[in-house]
Amino acid sequence: MDDRVSWLSVAAHPAEYEQVADNLFSLFVTARNLAPDRNATGCTRHPNGPVDTQAPEGWGRCLFCNSNRRLGQPGAKAGPEIARSMWAIPEPPYSHRALTGTMKKLKEAVVELELRSPNRDFEHVADLAHCAFYIARELSRPPSTSGCPRHPGAPIDSDAPGGPQCLFCLGRQRQALRGEPKVNIRPSRPVPAPVRPPRTWPVPPADGA
Ligand SMILES: [Zn+2]
Ligand SMILES: [Zn+2]
Repeated sequence: MDDRVSWLSVAAHPAEYEQVADNLFSLFVTARNLAPDRNATGCTRHPNGPVDTQAPEGWGRCLFCNSNRRLGQPGAKAGPEIARSMWAIPEPPYSHRALTGTMKKLKEAVVELELRSPNRDFEHVADLAHCAFYIARELSRPPSTSGCPRHPGAPIDSDAPGGPQCLFCLGRQRQALRGEPKVNIRPSRPVPAPVRPPRTWPVPPADGA
């Protein structure tokens, strides 16, 4: 794989990266299977529970915990915030250079790996393999039509002030101007005080009556 990537020129056609991306994905799957499991919810209490796809910013992704949180249950814990992907995603730019750099790190990590290596070493290799795959996949996409390095295939807003712009970046800018959406967390309703009937004990008749 390493030789193949080195052979590709900087200006290689995206189609040439397709096979590389496929092979790197197989490599990643092997590395992931050797590493300890990572769960999708990121929740220690419900590791195999459903994922909350509508989780507000800063919340965990466990649907059970988030449902409790939305209901304002006092026992609910905020799940840990986890990244977009279970495995590492490299920062852009996604270039041939970034790919060779990641492949070099991956090769070094694999060389040091042995059967008795600690779990985190296997995780490190799986993360690097995922990064390499991610870059290769980005490089295998058709050339950018939007002119945006972050969103190559994004639609363009041709009426944007200051000339045509990437619609995704524009939306993000507008959202940044508006600020973060507010999340109202409903407090739990206080338990109503028990209603007791007024005490009406019969007064015993006075002595000598
Ligand atoms: Zn949970
Ligand atoms: Zn963009």
